Amino acid sequence: MLTVAEFFVWLVAGIYFYVLPLIDRAIAEADARDDLEAQRALTVPKAPRSAFTARRLTPTTFLIVEVNDIFNEHPFIYAKIFAEAKEILLVDTGCGGMSRDPTVEITSLREFLETVDVPDNGGRPLNVGGQMGYAVVLSHCHYDHILGVEQFAVDSPIYESAHLPSFVSSQNLPKNSHCKALGVRTPSFEPTLVPHRSRLVFFAPDFSTNVVLLHTPGHTPDEVALWDTDENMLYVGDTLYEFEPIIFPAEGDIVDWLGSIDMLMDVVLGSTSPERALINCGHRTTMRPAKEVLQSTKAFMMDVLAGKMKVHRRETRRGIEYVEYVQPDQRYRLTCPEVLILGARERLDL
Ligand SMILES: [Zn+2]
Ligand SMILES: [Zn+2]
Repeated sequence: MLTVAEFFVWLVAGIYFYVLPLIDRAIAEADARDDLEAQRALTVPKAPRSAFTARRLTPTTFLIVEVNDIFNEHPFIYAKIFAEAKEILLVDTGCGGMSRDPTVEITSLREFLETVDVPDNGGRPLNVGGQMGYAVVLSHCHYDHILGVEQFAVDSPIYESAHLPSFVSSQNLPKNSHCKALGVRTPSFEPTLVPHRSRLVFFAPDFSTNVVLLHTPGHTPDEVALWDTDENMLYVGDTLYEFEPIIFPAEGDIVDWLGSIDMLMDVVLGSTSPERALINCGHRTTMRPAKEVLQSTKAFMMDVLAGKMKVHRRETRRGIEYVEYVQPDQRYRLTCPEVLILGARERLDL
């Protein structure tokens, strides 16, 4: 049995020889960890702040989003990589990297593709050091899809619809792209105009793609879609989206749009697996079931034309009366000059 004095002697000795060294070691290890972190922060460069983000959609295709742009458009840009041919097919080029965030360092889409690490691409840029070439398809000529095009036009082909060449001519582009109205410089480039249903052969003569360009006038006369038969994917630009207004400018045409939707539906139904086909849009909507989205968008438009939906809002812009229609669940919304609806009703005898 220990006396009280002996107990305290053993207690103090235990703290001194056993507990204090443990505390010392824990403090030393924490210091070492902090030093290592500090060293790592110095040696690993911080990722540059970019106007773009990218994520993988399929084994070959990435979705690039221009986030936080000053126009509030958040356009979707698609990059399909043909590794064998060392080429990248880009669908659209965004708003030119004009970000609301003044700390953004990467404002060039091309610089983003060639230098910014993408986690979904094994932590590497999509086109390391620009080793692959480019071909660009513009879904249509609106500013939010073409303002990055000059970065590629210097050395790469740019493809547009041949449906109505005058609409995309250099004389008419400032107006029809809406660059003039917005006070933005219109990009200067020489596109190759592509006929309807052309299989895209961008690259070396011995390399063709299974991507077909389709004329889909409606949103604008020059709107196109791409059908990638390898991946059962449709890319439809601004022809439609969910949960964001489908917009027709004064140059739009609803009867042409209905014809384009029917043609896209025929393409999907004629494919090997229509139920698995996916649709990707120029804003907001990606990787959605193509057949169902095409069917339900057309049904919404027919409800509007048949007078089954009330006008949600009216607005006069630059002397033109615009109307907005909204589905109760907000999935589909339509904003367009009222004259387009009245004209379509007359032509369709509704
Ligand atoms: Zn558009
Ligand atoms: Zn757009």
